[in-house]
Amino acid sequence: MVAHYKVISRDSVESVLAGNWPWFQKAPLRGDDHYFAVCPWCNNPIQLKGLYRKQAGSPRPYGSHTGEPVDGFPYFNMTDLVYCPYRLKQRSYKKTDRRPVGEAARRLVERAVSEFDRIILVLREDFGFPFSSRFAEKMLDLWFSSQGYCYTGAHLRNLPWMIAYFGPTESIYGQYIGSDTELVRAIIKQVSGARITPEGQLRHDGTGYFNLKLQCLHHRMTEISAEGMLSERMTLRVMDFSATNFAGEAPALYEKKIRFDPERFERLIHTAPERARRNRALLDLARQVAEKWRPTTHGDNA
Ligand SMILES: [Zn+2]
Repeated sequence: MVAHYKVISRDSVESVLAGNWPWFQKAPLRGDDHYFAVCPWCNNPIQLKGLYRKQAGSPRPYGSHTGEPVDGFPYFNMTDLVYCPYRLKQRSYKKTDRRPVGEAARRLVERAVSEFDRIILVLREDFGFPFSSRFAEKMLDLWFSSQGYCYTGAHLRNLPWMIAYFGPTESIYGQYIGSDTELVRAIIKQVSGARITPEGQLRHDGTGYFNLKLQCLHHRMTEISAEGMLSERMTLRVMDFSATNFAGEAPALYEKKIRFDPERFERLIHTAPERARRNRALLDLARQVAEKWRPTTHGDNA
């Protein structure tokens, strides 16, 4: 069962769920019909409310977690429910906050590997330049090693950006940053010794040393109350480590907000196979990284 996000309205529910079981169920006792769907953030069943009758204090239709398994929905996981961002009102977490492994964490790991090329496609667009596969590999490696899939702010709709968020503070020397004109301008203006080749690559011009590193930080969620939707963002920052080894002392050269666009990632995932252009090299890379972090199962046959 795949979770597609839709703004809940009477029309969307009727057209998408079409009155079919398990989406639509007749309540056995009260004769009150129920519409169900799955929560796009935690994949647990939700009941759609307020479709035909306005609920007190709720001007528009909304989904509410059932809090228990529902017939026809094979998936129910209490851990994921407890940490569902739609349910939790907490909107920011420490990067070190972790939750237990639930079904969602397992799905995130699976998806990180099977969709790694698409994750990197999205991130390269959001970063503004096509960072190297080596950089991509380090991101995934750190995401695994720091168990980013158990980060309290991780859920089924922010995977690509969380992989960048848990990625390294990484040198951008040699990266092809030419397509990000703002970043290029900031570097040329503030960093002596930097040059951009005609191909867009960041190089030394032979006159001085510099060391620029990129980091993703400040993951935040905000509620767009008009639609009951969540909006998430993080900050991409390029810092100048030329005179220091400490992030706290390195001046920021360039900063931009990255707003997460889960729909774009979902669309990529659901591209028809005949139209999909997969990057086999990145997928192989992801499999190798995942293999390294696979829990060992020695002793199972003992
Ligand atoms: Zn949920």
